[in-house]
Amino acid sequence: MATLEIKNLHAEVAEEGGETILRGVDLEVKSGEIHALMGPNGSGKSTMAKIIAGHPAYEVTDGEVLLHLEEGDFGDDFEIPEDKRTWNLLDLEPNERAALGIFLGFQYPAEIEGVTMVNFLRTALNAKLEEREELFEDDDETDDEEEEEVGYDTSPMEGNPDDGEVGVAEFQQLLQEKMAQLDMDEKFAHRYLNAGFSGGEKKQNEVLQAAILEPSIAVLDEIDSGLDIDRLQDVSQGINALRDEQGTGILQITHYQRILDYVEPDHVHVMLDGKVAKSGDASLAEDLEDKGYDWVREEVYETA
Ligand code: ADP
Ligand code: MG
Ligand code: MG
Repeated sequence: MATLEIKNLHAEVAEEGGETILRGVDLEVKSGEIHALMGPNGSGKSTMAKIIAGHPAYEVTDGEVLLHLEEGDFGDDFEIPEDKRTWNLLDLEPNERAALGIFLGFQYPAEIEGVTMVNFLRTALNAKLEEREELFEDDDETDDEEEEEVGYDTSPMEGNPDDGEVGVAEFQQLLQEKMAQLDMDEKFAHRYLNAGFSGGEKKQNEVLQAAILEPSIAVLDEIDSGLDIDRLQDVSQGINALRDEQGTGILQITHYQRILDYVEPDHVHVMLDGKVAKSGDASLAEDLEDKGYDWVREEVYETA
């Protein structure tokens, strides 16, 4: 079981005199759990998500973002040595964070022409697996391996089926399985990335990407925004499948209570002014729906 632990996180906009946005966020998400992070516009939810992803627009001024792993988190065949079970994500590149099992939304590589979803997803999966091998490589073996690798064709869209990558046929099967789990139409996968997916289709693709990459923890920022009710139900069913079928922990950032009717959270948190001001169970989301955020603010500042 993996645990994402955010401790006393402070951050500001990374520029001269940049505004302070996060003022001591504490939050812990374990694989298999569903957390909803709510809060008014401008409270810092997206900033926190982007910092977990390693977005360069923000500078962390205090606190930590840790990932704790346990043996078995990457399957029975992948050994995680004791000295590589806790990672400070803030020291890692975004692709290294992804390789350790953190998923953050769908980065549309709009600049790539003529690439189908299926090729993009296979490339993303192979890049993740390769990066993970590198992170867990024995440090003293690294030099030799790197020498051997010189001369390889590293073209991301080709892939050499002999070097531990998921090949075309194997991937096709994985994709079919995942799409069936998510109840998605298979023709999706053969569309081109830049072929104008609708807003709802992009959200479904985001869930599909998480299904393929099988992250320990997925951070989904406003995946419910702009969805009609049918699409909201499809996307919700997909999110539930991520948890139920592969044990992904979900940090669902949302402004509205609506999606929580379909993706029932184990824990609900309210962010106010750059801090998690209150946490509770699913009933907290209902209270927020009825009463808004002001009562939380009053409660917090009265006792402060
Ligand atoms: P939320 O997702 O909760 O609505 P955000 O994290 O997007 O809130 O934003 C929190 C606050 O930080 C807002 O006041 C926003 O304007 C400000 N902010 C976020 N990113 C930047 C940035 N790159 N430059 C300047 N201000 C920013
Ligand atoms: Mg936001
Ligand atoms: Mg690398």
